[in-house]
Amino acid sequence: EDSEETLISEVTSKSSGADTDHEIEFLGEKVKIGFSMDTLEEDRWVRDRDLFKEAVESLGAEVEIMAANGDDALQLLQAETLISQEIDVLVIVPHNAEATAAIVNKAQLAGVKVLSYDRLIKNADIDLYISFDNEQVGELKARAITSRVPTGKYVYIGGAITDNNAHLFKSGVFNVLKPLIDNGDISIVYDQWTKDWTPTNAFANMEAALIANNNEIDAVIAANDATAGGVIEALEAQGLAGEIPVAGQDADLAAIQRIIEGTQTMTVYKPIKPLAEEAAILAVKLARGEKIETNTTVNNGKIDVPSVLLSPVSVELENISETIIADGFHTREEIYNQK
Ligand code: BGC
Repeated sequence: EDSEETLISEVTSKSSGADTDHEIEFLGEKVKIGFSMDTLEEDRWVRDRDLFKEAVESLGAEVEIMAANGDDALQLLQAETLISQEIDVLVIVPHNAEATAAIVNKAQLAGVKVLSYDRLIKNADIDLYISFDNEQVGELKARAITSRVPTGKYVYIGGAITDNNAHLFKSGVFNVLKPLIDNGDISIVYDQWTKDWTPTNAFANMEAALIANNNEIDAVIAANDATAGGVIEALEAQGLAGEIPVAGQDADLAAIQRIIEGTQTMTVYKPIKPLAEEAAILAVKLARGEKIETNTTVNNGKIDVPSVLLSPVSVELENISETIIADGFHTREEIYNQK
């Protein structure tokens, strides 16, 4: 905690202009962080990128950022480039939970510490993991839908099988559904992963679910708002949008607008600002070799990774103002005017 205060006071003294060369240094050099991102496809990642950059810089450190467009080989190459630029810490949003272990090995050989950001890197010696309670994300979705649809035929449209989060979201959903499946109240009539999380693949999966069930579906739980968007398009094509409850995640602007229109039932809001800011503080501390306090550990198949997990928030029509708008995640103007 001490060192966090030090960081904050350094930032304050810097921004007050009192002491301009009072920047965070490690062995006489400015701390340098590399941020290797999988994608900038969903809205949230642009926000993660911008907020992380801002937070690192406000701590007096530097950051170099690259995004890999969902390409494992490219993410490896970009990570190697970052490592060769003498970064102290590599912060990674892995496209592929398993394949990214190769990046971690390279970082380790170069003496670079690794922080797994939002998504867990599996089977590798990473130093830290920061994310949300992703099982809880799934539980919030399933609770919102089962309270509306306590019995009937359910479709689950999952995320990318290569993303550890997709597995956590799914287990959260099924934690809530399982007793209802067991007692026969609900049945799962379709359950599929969505390659690379794309709306197009989710659309195709939802079309297949509708065909296989003669359109007789009572509820859909989608892994995120991008896939929920694909689901809702497929429902629209059958004149069913707004008739069947759909859950998503991310509080994307389009999803909030669909909730207002009535075609999507809920989303899960994960405040990105605290995630990015806490990640920046942790990365700088890692770079300086400072002691880090975390609230839990998560096993990644190889080690128990010291982890920080933040809380997700369920958003439905009734609480958009108190959550998304109050937090400044989207403004009222963006939501209602800029369609
Ligand atoms: C993130 C979600 C995001 C999805 C697709 C997941 O790992 O937690 O917020 O929608 O990836 O990028």
